[in-house]
Amino acid sequence: AARSAPRYLEGLNPEQSRAVETVEGPVLVLAGAGTGKTRVLTTRIAHILGQGLAWPSQVLAVTFTNKAAREMKERIGVLVGGAVEGMPWLGTFHSIGVKILRKHAELVGLKSDFTILDTDDQIRLIKQLIQAEGIDDKRWPARTFAHLMDSWKNKGWGPGDIPEGDARAFANGKGRELFTAYQDRLRTLNAADFGDLLCHPIRILKNHPDVLAEYHAKFKYILVDEYQDTNIAQYMWLRLLSQRPKGRPANICCVGDDDQSIYGWRGAEVDNILRFEKDFPGAAVIKLERNYRSTAHILGAAAHLISHNEDRLGKTLFTDEADIDDPKVQVHAAWDSEEEARAIGEVIERLYSDQNDLNEMAILVRASFQMREFEERFIKSGINYRVIGGPRFYERLEIRDAMAFFRVVCQPADDLAFERIINVPKRGLGDASVRLIHDYARRKDIPMLAASAELIESTELKPKPRAALREVVLNFERWANALENTEHTELAETILEESGYTGMWQADRSAEAPGRLENLKELITSMSEFESLRSFLEHVSLVMDVEQNPDDDKVSIMTLHAAKGLEFKTVFLPGFEEGLFPHQRSLDEGGRNGLEEERRLAYVGLTRAKINCHIWFVSNRRIHGLWQSTIPSRFLDELPTTHVDVADPPSGYGGGNGGYGQSRFDKAEPFQNTYSTPGWARAQANKTDATRNNWGSRSGANVERIGYGETDSRRGAGRGSI
Ligand code: ATP
Ligand code: MG
Repeated sequence: AARSAPRYLEGLNPEQSRAVETVEGPVLVLAGAGTGKTRVLTTRIAHILGQGLAWPSQVLAVTFTNKAAREMKERIGVLVGGAVEGMPWLGTFHSIGVKILRKHAELVGLKSDFTILDTDDQIRLIKQLIQAEGIDDKRWPARTFAHLMDSWKNKGWGPGDIPEGDARAFANGKGRELFTAYQDRLRTLNAADFGDLLCHPIRILKNHPDVLAEYHAKFKYILVDEYQDTNIAQYMWLRLLSQRPKGRPANICCVGDDDQSIYGWRGAEVDNILRFEKDFPGAAVIKLERNYRSTAHILGAAAHLISHNEDRLGKTLFTDEADIDDPKVQVHAAWDSEEEARAIGEVIERLYSDQNDLNEMAILVRASFQMREFEERFIKSGINYRVIGGPRFYERLEIRDAMAFFRVVCQPADDLAFERIINVPKRGLGDASVRLIHDYARRKDIPMLAASAELIESTELKPKPRAALREVVLNFERWANALENTEHTELAETILEESGYTGMWQADRSAEAPGRLENLKELITSMSEFESLRSFLEHVSLVMDVEQNPDDDKVSIMTLHAAKGLEFKTVFLPGFEEGLFPHQRSLDEGGRNGLEEERRLAYVGLTRAKINCHIWFVSNRRIHGLWQSTIPSRFLDELPTTHVDVADPPSGYGGGNGGYGQSRFDKAEPFQNTYSTPGWARAQANKTDATRNNWGSRSGANVERIGYGETDSRRGAGRGSI
C-alpha cells in the first residue's frame, strides 16, 4: 500500500517537492524572491532527518546570518515534531569555521582556545605594526589596510598568495610584509580575525587530506542558503567539502537568486551560482516561479525595477492575481529626514491602532546613519523598536571594557584586551608603564600578563606602579582560579566589582553613567543563558544581531543588507534619493556594476513586503552636519505606474512655491504623465543635470558632491556572515 506523504511535504508545489526530495547528488535551486527557497532548505533538512537518512550532526547547513540559523533550527523542530537534538553544523560560514578551527587549531599554529579579534582590536594591532615599520599611518591608515587584508582573505589568500600588484598597493610595497607580520602577531596572541575563520579552515582542509577525509565522511548532506552571496573563500571551502576525489560528488543543495546578490562590495561573486553546473555536471537545477510572499502590486513593482538591470539571468515570477483590495506600492515625499521619521511613525501608529503587530513592520535603510532619526522619533513617541544587525549593545564602551576583563581571564595571552583595561579604572599605570610591560613582553616573547607577573618581582617599575600592577596580576590570578568552580555570572559580577570597574561608573557623575551601569547589568543577565564565560565570549564575538527581547512586539529597524531573507507585512523604505540610494560611493567605485548592485538592493527591499510597501524620499537631508538639497532616486522612476500610488503630498507642500507643486505630487496631474515627460526621464538618466528634475528641491543641488558616511556595519548582517 502506498504510504501517505509525510506531513512536512504538504502544501509544497511540485517543484518545491522535487527540490526537497532529490536528496542524492548536487541540486541547485535558482529562483526569485519569496518563492520558498529557504522553506525548501528547511523542509529538506526535516526530510533528511525524518527519513533517518542522517543524524543531525551529519548535516552541514549554511545560512547567511545567525538569526536565520536560529529561525531555521526552530522551523525544523516544528516540522519534525521537536525531535531535533541540536544541529551542531547549522550556522553561518564563520560560526562553522570557528568550530572547525577550534578542533584543528594546532595545524595552523594556534591553540584551540584562541581569541576572535574584533574590528577595534584589529585596527589597534595593525596600527602598531604600521608604526613599528616606520610607515606614516596618516598617509597609510590602519583601516585601509584592514580593508585590503579583508578583501584578500575573502579570496582565500594568505601573504604568499597575493599578486605583486596587490602587494604593492599599500605603503609603497610593504603590503605583503605587513600582512605577514600581522599573521605572525596573531599567532603570538593566539588570536584569529574574522577572515581567518574562513581562511584557516581552507588551509587545514587543503593541506591535510586526512582531516578533509574526516569531514567528507562526516557531512552526508550539505545545504547552503543565499548562495548568490558567497565569496571566493566560502566557495573554495564548499568545494573542498563537496568534491570528493573519487566517486560521486556530495549531496549538496544550494539555493539562491542572482537578482539578490548584494554583497559584491564584500567580495561576493555571483558567478559562483553560474559556475555550479560546471562544477557539478549533471546537477539537478530546479526553478521555482511562484511567489508566496507578496501581493501582485509589490511583485509587479519589484520585477519592473529589476528589469532595468542588464546583467541578470532572468527569471519568471508570478503570484495570484491582484486583489482589488491590495494596496499599491506607496511613494511619499517629506521635507527632511525628521519629517520622514515623524510621518513613518504616524503610519505605524495608525496601523498599530488597527490591530497590526509591530513585529510585522520594518524600516529598511540604505545606510545605518539613517537609523538614528527613527530611533529618536520612536523613543519620543513611545513606539517599541529593535535595531537588528547594528552596532549597538555589544559595541558600547562599557560593554567592550567589561568584555576585555573577561577575555583576559579566559585567555591570559590576549594582550589587546589586557592593554585595553590595564589602566581602567585609572590606577597609575600610564603610558610609560604600559610601554615598559609591552617591551619586556616582546623581548621575552611572552604575553603581557605573564610579563607583568615577572615585572612585579623586579625593580624595573617604580614602587607605585609596581604596587598597582601587583594588584592587577593578583586579581587576574584569583579570577582565573575561580573560573572552573564559580558560577560564571557570579564571577563576572565579582570581576567588575573587584576591578573597580563598576565603582568607577558609580562614582561618575555624567549623564551617561546610570545607563552604562544598566548596560553592565544587562550584560550579566544576558550571560546566564550560556554555560560558561568562554561560550558567552564566543557568542558575543560571533553574534552582532542579538535582540534583547525577541518576543516583544517591536518595529524592526535595519539596513537593507541585513534584511535579506526576511519578510514583513509592512515595509518602509526611506531615503530614496540620489546619492543615498543609489549610494554615491557605489556609483563612484562600481560604475554600472555598482548601480546594478544598488538596484538589486532596492529589489531586495521591495520584496521583503508581503502587503504594504511604503517608499519615502526627502528633499533636504543633513549629511555630516550640512544641509543638502537632494533629488529623488532614479529608482522611483523605474517603478511602473500601474503598481504605484503617489501619496498625498504632506500638508503645506502643495503650493506653487517651487516645491512639489508642478510635480507628480500635484494631484491634478496624474502620476503617469510625469513618466511620459521625456525631459524627466533624461534628467534621471543624466544626474549631473539635476536642475531638470522637478520632484525634489528648490535648488537642484549637485548631488555628485555628496559623500555619505560609512554605511553598513560590515559585521551586521554580515557577520552573518557573522
Ligand atoms: P528570499 O529570496 O527572499 O529569501 P525565499 O525564496 O527564501 O525568499 P521563503 O522565505 O522560503 O522564500 O518563502 C517566502 C514565503 O512564502 C514564506 O512565508 C513561506 O512560508 C511561504 N511559502 C513558501 N512556499 C510555500 C507554499 N508551498 N505554500 C504556502 N506558502 C509558502
Ligand atoms: Mg530565503
